[in-house]
Amino acid sequence: MRDLTRLPKAHLHLHFTGSMSVPTLREIAATRGVRVPPALLDGDPLRVPATQRGWFRFQRLYDAARACVRSEGDMRRIVDEAAAADAAEGSVRLELQVDPTSYAPFVGGITPAVEIVLDAARTASAAHGLEVAVVVAASRTRHPLDARTLARLAARYAGQGPGEVVGFGLSNDERSGDTQAFARAFRIARDAGLASVPHGGELLGPEHVDTVLTTLRPDRLGHGVRASEDPATLDDVVARGVALEVCPASNVGLGVYPDTAHVPLRTLVDAGAIVALGADDPLLFGTRLVAQYEAARSAHGFDDAALADLARSSIRASRASEGSKWRMLAGVDSWLAEPAPGDDEAPA
Ligand SMILES: [Zn+2]
Repeated sequence: MRDLTRLPKAHLHLHFTGSMSVPTLREIAATRGVRVPPALLDGDPLRVPATQRGWFRFQRLYDAARACVRSEGDMRRIVDEAAAADAAEGSVRLELQVDPTSYAPFVGGITPAVEIVLDAARTASAAHGLEVAVVVAASRTRHPLDARTLARLAARYAGQGPGEVVGFGLSNDERSGDTQAFARAFRIARDAGLASVPHGGELLGPEHVDTVLTTLRPDRLGHGVRASEDPATLDDVVARGVALEVCPASNVGLGVYPDTAHVPLRTLVDAGAIVALGADDPLLFGTRLVAQYEAARSAHGFDDAALADLARSSIRASRASEGSKWRMLAGVDSWLAEPAPGDDEAPA
């Protein structure tokens, strides 16, 4: 078994605030004099009976963490540390998702908030040797007109490379808001060349996946795991070439599945879906990117060739330039070509 931290991979589902480590949150909160729920600092905030997991507990803790981030310095630190942590786990491409709305009051508006994240992404890319691009995400709990404003803002920074906006997302409670009402925002984003990357198919099932597919025309779906519950929906996902950003720790943390073994990773891959593993919110779910690949290995029996295929899928589903993808994919080939530890041992 080869070292998964050395497997080149793209990380396509990581949220800005949720990327923080517990010590960083503790420090930022202390500096700002903000009280945070002790559950956020104990290293395993969702370690409660399965019946007490779920979205509302998650949302309450996430909002508490977000409320600690109150300056340009905090924002730059979060991007830098997310990039450093990703690079240490073999990520060669990070597409970091941020809804700038809640940080805007502390830095003079949503435009500076986005520009700070983009500039920090550019700096972090150079500092840590990976490409850090940005997905601007709107919230389902806000008015669809806010989403259009964000889409227009995102469009101004559209590109492929480090420090550019590559996609437009829709996050927060999947059960709130009218998906159809966000279609205009996604059209603005797509017309600007941005990838459509809404969440869907985690808290709601295949019916909502169908709605997202037809109204928001995603290039990638945040989660989408519950497409596995209806073969027709899953076929549609595959036929449309929509990549699924599968985040096993998130699914378990939110109580969508009782444990990692129940995450339908096999079903999705066997059906021909493009899967890119992601960590979603390490601050809340307790694990980062490599742990998701380790879960595929240990809970789902993926061997090194299959894990390399997952990494290739993540790279292909990213919005990196063709040249960058070629280089990243060559890195995956090299990883797999190396002898696995133990290969050279003489048989006993
Ligand atoms: Zn997410």
